Amino acid sequence: MNNNFDKHQSINKRVNRTWIAVLIICLVFTGLILFFPSQNNGGKENNAIPPVKDITPQIIEASAITSEQETLPLFHDNALKTAGFVNIKELSPLFYFDIRYATTNNFTGKVIYDTDQCYLQKEASEGILKALKILQKRDEPLTFIFYDCYRPQSAQEKLWLAYPNPSYVARPEKGSRHSRGMAVDLTLAKQDGTPLPMPTEFDSFKKEAHMDYNGSSVSKEALENRDLLKKVMTEAGFTYTRTEWWHFDKTGWKQKPVQNIDF
Ligand SMILES: [Zn+2]
Repeated sequence: MNNNFDKHQSINKRVNRTWIAVLIICLVFTGLILFFPSQNNGGKENNAIPPVKDITPQIIEASAITSEQETLPLFHDNALKTAGFVNIKELSPLFYFDIRYATTNNFTGKVIYDTDQCYLQKEASEGILKALKILQKRDEPLTFIFYDCYRPQSAQEKLWLAYPNPSYVARPEKGSRHSRGMAVDLTLAKQDGTPLPMPTEFDSFKKEAHMDYNGSSVSKEALENRDLLKKVMTEAGFTYTRTEWWHFDKTGWKQKPVQNIDF
């Protein structure tokens, strides 16, 4: 009995040792499986997924532009650029802007559009840069102040309602050259932004605002400045209109469609 018991016990001990050995082997294998793949792929995975601390600035950046004020102009800027427009404010730091229809300081006394941006079609923007180069080569370099650039068709309708005179405002059904992004209203300025004297104020309906006016009620200096503006813009590929010294059309404007993309 005792012998049998001892034998039985030693068999039990052997079985237990075997199980413990199997358990240890299993644990070692599990450890190897878990450990090695993470070591081998670690480098690749680190390249594919940046550490958390690296993506945090991106998250902050994204949330910073989610406010309505920031995203809306960006959306319209993209829509305009897709349609071939250039933001003139991004073209040169030498320019000045006094976008009158974004204020009540215009002949209608009303705000015609909500933002003081200045967009032109690419061809017109290239002409503007050419004109700036001519002005900058002068002994006393000059620059431009922009009054009006691209005008959405909806703004043209507002202008027509405020002043339905086809000599000065294009009929909405005809479409303004401003709505094609190929017309610009501007004047000359010194480098510090001081406007040069001109025959009249912007958007004046007086005869003195006409390109061919040479009467004595306007100073010689103002007439010379107007003629300089006309000469520079013509050299840069623009044509002028008889009744407005500030208005110029880029040649080829007929090829560009009337647009109604809001700012
Ligand atoms: Zn104009």
